[in-house]
Amino acid sequence: MFENLQEKLQRAFKNLRGQGTITDENIGEALREIRLALLESDVNLNVVKSLIERVRERAIGTQVATALSPTEQVIKIVHDELIEVLGRDNARFKFSSQPPTVILMAGLQGSGKTTTSGKLASWLKKGGHRPMLVSVDVYRPAAREQLAIVAKSVGAQIYTGKVSDEEAGTPLVERLAREAKREATNFGNDVLIVDTAGRLGIDEPLMDEMRKLKALLNPSEILFVADAMTGQDAVNSADAFHRELGLTGVVLTKMDGDARGGAALSIRNVTGAPVKFLGTGEKPDAFEAFHPDRIVSRIMGMGDIATLLERAEEKLDRGKAEEFAKKALTGDGFSLEDFRDQMRQIKKLGSMQSILKMLPSVGPFQGLQQAAEHVDEGQFARVEAMINSMTKKERLNHEIISGSRRRRIAAGSGTSVQEVNQLLKQYAQMRKMFKGLGSGGGKMQRRLMAQ
Ligand code: GDP
Repeated sequence: MFENLQEKLQRAFKNLRGQGTITDENIGEALREIRLALLESDVNLNVVKSLIERVRERAIGTQVATALSPTEQVIKIVHDELIEVLGRDNARFKFSSQPPTVILMAGLQGSGKTTTSGKLASWLKKGGHRPMLVSVDVYRPAAREQLAIVAKSVGAQIYTGKVSDEEAGTPLVERLAREAKREATNFGNDVLIVDTAGRLGIDEPLMDEMRKLKALLNPSEILFVADAMTGQDAVNSADAFHRELGLTGVVLTKMDGDARGGAALSIRNVTGAPVKFLGTGEKPDAFEAFHPDRIVSRIMGMGDIATLLERAEEKLDRGKAEEFAKKALTGDGFSLEDFRDQMRQIKKLGSMQSILKMLPSVGPFQGLQQAAEHVDEGQFARVEAMINSMTKKERLNHEIISGSRRRRIAAGSGTSVQEVNQLLKQYAQMRKMFKGLGSGGGKMQRRLMAQ
């Protein structure tokens, strides 16, 4: 997400480094680069223009002595202004005081509406809610079937109702919606997610249907699902839907494809509707609430530690992590078995690439984000297979693994002896390093904490 933009902005800031003061001239050069970086990432032209103007005004005006260097001042100003563009307030998800809370999903065909309905259900379940799904796309049986599959995969209830293709039309849509709301009330589902018929473009009959659904269901949220890969088209269709329906929020999907994520930066500013969620992959948990400050931190290369910690909090086993830290640092060492456990834990956080990308690209983490590009995710599976092929005794004491056993382990795990040797060497090094960390009077730990 935003890798291109991030890289280009870093370059613009780098060129500014080493300049003693901010002058019209040197800020001009940096601003030209920032402007280009934003435009190339598909940020709306008007948004870019006004952002650059505000940064220029504030940067030139800030000549007073502060603890920050001129470059740091400019970085801070760009950071603040980008947050301003995205909307400083965290647009919160609204629940109705009279359940069920109804969420009306709108969007063009293929934007990811059905996938997002499932993701939303899964997200709500994690928050302790009991969502029910319903598809009112009476025109496409395949769309309704797909929602049923999605609902099953996230373990959410679905209302299917009786649909005969002869009566397909707005009255049937309204009947299904009404029944689903009643069903949700009867079953004690506190949220009803209504997946509507997708459309190829903005067309009047379907828009009329949306207006009727809005009047009938009195939804707390009308979310427009937009495919971020379509760039400015996503902004324009969000704008049209907002004018017709009064959206409460936008979900930007396919943010995992980098190319034109800049559209995300324009949507709030152009349409007035806040971005509330991001879709970052096809799986149900590839979904996150949109926090402008965190996104801007990511774009600015400062990483997104907050999201990473939240994910860790949710997915990791705290007891295990503490046990591991104690073992590793007290010099007891940690076995290959612990190593495998630890690797499994980390994998729960997502792909290695996605984890590395949330770390800052400056300071002690410099280079890790770039390294993410070259991470071989299959490597983890191979390492696990190698450890699995060892006997328990070997896992607890790697020193007993002989040459012939190494060949057997390689054969058993479908790897090569070289790979087994490399794993054992790296593991031994890591063990030594951890021991050093533990016995080094905590100096290294303190240093890491101070960063
Ligand atoms: P709908 O027609 O709007 O209901 O769209 P679907 O939910 O059927 O999604 C269309 C395609 O986009 C499917 O292949 C989804 O797997 C994919 N998709 C949806 N959201 C995302 C996302 O956030 N990232 C990626 N990479 N693919 C997504």
